[in-house]
Amino acid sequence: MDVSLLPSEIAEAQSAFPAALAACADLDALNRLKGAYTGREASHAARMMDLLKAAPKEQKRDLGAAINAVKNAWDEAIKARQLELAAAKKAATWDPTLTPPMPPKGALHPLDRLMGRMTEAFRPLGYHIEEGPEIETAANNFDGLNIPEDHPARGSSDTFYLAAHPELLLRTHTSPVQVRVLARYGAKGADGVSLLEKKGGLRFLAPGRVYRKDEIDPTHSPMFHQIEGMLVGKGIGLHHLKGTLSYAMRALFGPDTKARFRPSYFPFVEPGCEMDVSCPLCAGKGCRVCKGSGWVEILGAGLIHPAVLSHAGIDAKVWSGFAFGMGVERTAMMVSQTPDLRLFFENDQRFLAAMGGLD
Ligand SMILES: [Zn+2]
Repeated sequence: MDVSLLPSEIAEAQSAFPAALAACADLDALNRLKGAYTGREASHAARMMDLLKAAPKEQKRDLGAAINAVKNAWDEAIKARQLELAAAKKAATWDPTLTPPMPPKGALHPLDRLMGRMTEAFRPLGYHIEEGPEIETAANNFDGLNIPEDHPARGSSDTFYLAAHPELLLRTHTSPVQVRVLARYGAKGADGVSLLEKKGGLRFLAPGRVYRKDEIDPTHSPMFHQIEGMLVGKGIGLHHLKGTLSYAMRALFGPDTKARFRPSYFPFVEPGCEMDVSCPLCAGKGCRVCKGSGWVEILGAGLIHPAVLSHAGIDAKVWSGFAFGMGVERTAMMVSQTPDLRLFFENDQRFLAAMGGLD
């Protein structure tokens, strides 16, 4: 730049600038320097603009260029120093004893949380958890449950069979766990006494995944979850079933929850029933979820069919009991008012975070 055009006072300020800039030890000092050099008023830059205005017309162009060059150089140097000082300040205030920022916290999937709540509702009644494999035999999935040979559910259009082992299938319900547990409890030990006789009965829940050949749509999925429940004892009747399930539904949906039972049919129970509860969302007044009826269907149940007990070697004249099965996704959709089942399997973080209502 041609500083020879600048008046001596500006030339002096220009030559003093580098040292003055370096002497700025913090951002406050730098701001004062900035004001003195490039501020709008009472600064070297403002003084230069006054000189430019007063200069003879033929000098204006060259003087203007020289003034611009000087001012731009100051601006840039000040900006660079500002970044330096800001970085130094940040480094000086870094406190290694502070807790570092934490990554977002993970949580159980909403369906896991709901299954936990559902099984928890039965815990005070002494139910324990039983598990079974998801690959089952047709014997456990159908035969042991009194499901006839010609039942449509056995067909390959409803059930996934293993290509290499056609006698094996992906279980279509959690009920084969009943068959396994009954066989274990019904088998006589070396002393000729069964576990069922030793314990005087049994009661358990079996939560898990089940599979059916359903097309994926808002209310169907080829994989979903059920919770199976069973109680076996002596002299067990429908009143035990109704009392147990009414208690558990009050624990799950609130103390004012009402229950009603409708006759229904499942091959492994006799008699069979379906249970409705007063709609947990409108307390039975009628809403969109219960379609104005005030009731929602919550589970299927019944007294264990004598053939199921006999199949496991248990004397159906001595022992009786009840069984029930709940759909987890259906309950989750109802409680959370989620219209599309697929949302539960897509793992969209926004949806999962919004599912706090299932806690
Ligand atoms: Zn309702």
